[in-house]
Amino acid sequence: MDQQAELKRLRDELDLVNADLLELINKRGEIAVEIGKVKRAQGLDRYDPVRERQMLESIAENNHGPFETGRLQHMFKEIFKASLELQGEDRTRKLLVSRKQKPTNTIIRVGDDVIGDGSQQLIAGPCAVESEEQVFEVAAQLAKHGVRFMRGGAYKPRTSPYDFQGLGLEGLKMLKKAADAHNLHVITEIMTPSAVESALPYVDIIQVGARNMQNFDLLKEVGRTNKPVLLKRGLSATLEEFMYAAEYIMASGNDQVILCERGIRTYERATRNTLDISAVPILKQETHLPVMVDVTHSTGRKDILLPTAKAAYAVGADAVMVEVHPFPALALSDANQQLDFKEFDAFVENLTSTFPALNVQ
Ligand code: PEP
Ligand code: MN
Repeated sequence: MDQQAELKRLRDELDLVNADLLELINKRGEIAVEIGKVKRAQGLDRYDPVRERQMLESIAENNHGPFETGRLQHMFKEIFKASLELQGEDRTRKLLVSRKQKPTNTIIRVGDDVIGDGSQQLIAGPCAVESEEQVFEVAAQLAKHGVRFMRGGAYKPRTSPYDFQGLGLEGLKMLKKAADAHNLHVITEIMTPSAVESALPYVDIIQVGARNMQNFDLLKEVGRTNKPVLLKRGLSATLEEFMYAAEYIMASGNDQVILCERGIRTYERATRNTLDISAVPILKQETHLPVMVDVTHSTGRKDILLPTAKAAYAVGADAVMVEVHPFPALALSDANQQLDFKEFDAFVENLTSTFPALNVQ
């Protein structure tokens, strides 16, 4: 047989295989639709990730090539997805963070204090723990206003390796001591999975910073603790990515997650980041988790902390975070945007007159 004839024969054979595949895929679709009907009649969700994984594993077991298993699994996943679409299934329904999955608000309780119950909280404290004296002064100032949650970084994610990196565990102990002296709860950032366990005795709420939003090992590790997690939105994370990051924590067993909008990178340079205020109502709609706004890191400037905090509470934020320092000009990080005590007094006074539900005075 000459080469042209051979090519034609092979192509004819391929056409027949294509036709078979087409028929089989559609047959699969018909069966999937029937399964969907049975499941619906039983009140079951149609998307079943465990079953999907079993089917993918079976592909791995039975594959004799020449296609690579990963390649084939990818193709089959597309077929599974298309089948679900035929069933009219919405995959997000199955997410643990989804409000479709759990219609009631998740409420975070720390001692007698609550985030996410409809009251509004203020979280304040220095950017970084710098000394015992500094955190004691700030704690007293917060207590004076009835603030219940004190933030402060002991492990600092700094852009430059030559900038102040935080006092580490020693700083965390100082923060805890100052908070205890004024009966406040501690919120602090942990940057690595290996630092989680040693920090636990000193922390009430673990913060995962923007730069670590997709540090999946860290998300899993904090997900294995029984402390609430304050998860910040990544510097350029979409809301979908943000929600999936929270899903990692919940899928690891921890359902106490607070989502924090802290500004995203845009072309605008008037603020350090662009506060995506619409993220708040969208996250409240899409998830059942408490949502808060960090006005300090989103704006990076003192003069608009008050209006942005008002905007946050007005759109339904459960809490606002703001940085306070006894002498901002001398601060070892974020010197430009931390409030001094007088400015903090005015900030709180103005907010409480606008939002009576705010849990400060
Ligand atoms: C912080 O809150 O201390 C901080 C570093 O914020 P972000 O991770 O949002 O930049
Ligand atoms: Mn800061």
